[in-house]
Amino acid sequence: MTPPFSELASSLDDIARQGLYRSRRVIASPQGIKLEIDGRNVVNFCSNDYLGLANHPDVVEAFKAGADCYGVGSGSAHLICGHSAAHHALEEELAAFTGRDRALLFSTGYMANIGVISALLGRGDAVFEDRLNHASLLDGGLLSGARFKRYAHADVTDLEANLEKASGRKMIMTDGVFSMDGDFAPLNELATTAKKHDAWLMVDDAHGLGVIGEHGGGIVEHYGLGQDDVPVLMGTLGKGLGTFGAFVAGSEVLIETLIQKARTYIYTTALPAAVAEATRASLKIAIEESWRRDKLKQLSGRFRQGAEQLGLKLMVSSSAIQPILIGDSQTAVDISNALLNAGFLVSAIRPPTVPQGSARLRVTFSALHEEQHVDRLLDALSKANAGCK
Ligand SMILES: *Cc1c(COP(=O)(O)O)cnc(C)c1O
Repeated sequence: MTPPFSELASSLDDIARQGLYRSRRVIASPQGIKLEIDGRNVVNFCSNDYLGLANHPDVVEAFKAGADCYGVGSGSAHLICGHSAAHHALEEELAAFTGRDRALLFSTGYMANIGVISALLGRGDAVFEDRLNHASLLDGGLLSGARFKRYAHADVTDLEANLEKASGRKMIMTDGVFSMDGDFAPLNELATTAKKHDAWLMVDDAHGLGVIGEHGGGIVEHYGLGQDDVPVLMGTLGKGLGTFGAFVAGSEVLIETLIQKARTYIYTTALPAAVAEATRASLKIAIEESWRRDKLKQLSGRFRQGAEQLGLKLMVSSSAIQPILIGDSQTAVDISNALLNAGFLVSAIRPPTVPQGSARLRVTFSALHEEQHVDRLLDALSKANAGCK
């Protein structure tokens, strides 16, 4: 008799041998540019809290006031008795912010993506996804039962070739700002192609919302695309906006369809109303304080310039995500550990999150970083030989 899970144990050994073992670090401080790990303070360069709002005093205050007003749990799903005035107000504010008719809150971005695709497509339909889309978009596409087609990254010609062969409902799905690369989807061309082929276009702007565009409207503001161009816009609240949760914005018909049909909306508990209140506060700051976006541009510009001088391998990115390509997974982990010893938290991103042979250090900036943090990180990268492979 083999003991239970012995196969799993050897599979864990395999994962470790390939330099792909994942483990967590226990954080003892609030989110911010400084984190306390194992009793040590490190400078954080791997958060998605781009605008520095996760621990903003106004956001924390709104969260506490929300808990005083609504309690902690939301009691049920939105369709039973969990949809509070706070949720409702946030949805209206998100619709106005994105320039869409309506917005609908989901408990997480992962669930939003899974719910939307299955609500809109099924067997006999076809879904087209950028090869580098986030896992939740890919999983959503696969779960929907529609014919699943991946196109080469940002390659509209490849997409068109696939669209021509398709029948049934067609939906194109893309990250707005690609999460592990930091580049933008070619949204103008995608919108034109979608119209030409009578396909729906869905954009997941988890990393653009609040961060990109003059008013923080994200990738659709950057390209000036309205609801007719991008009929399904998904955004998350846990990144640029610093809180938790997600939403989908679009037409009345889209939102009502999701309320009736999206299973990850219907069969899950609404996020706490206090989180909605906190998000209302962070959305206000994100809109008003454009210095946060300017600062991110300035910091990533400085980093790119310094990294080029050091011969580091940057990617094509004009966002707050500035990965350094390393290649080998174990090397990426070794450099990440060396950086941690020097007091900098930078995560090594490995397959299957990114394609084979393209492990990288995913450096991200926060509006709360200062230029000296960037300079110190560059110095540490140089000492850790991040340019050598
Ligand atoms: C983080 C992320 C998600 C998932 O959002 P959660 O709210 O964290 O579940 C979806 N899409 C993209 C592109 C993301 O980066």
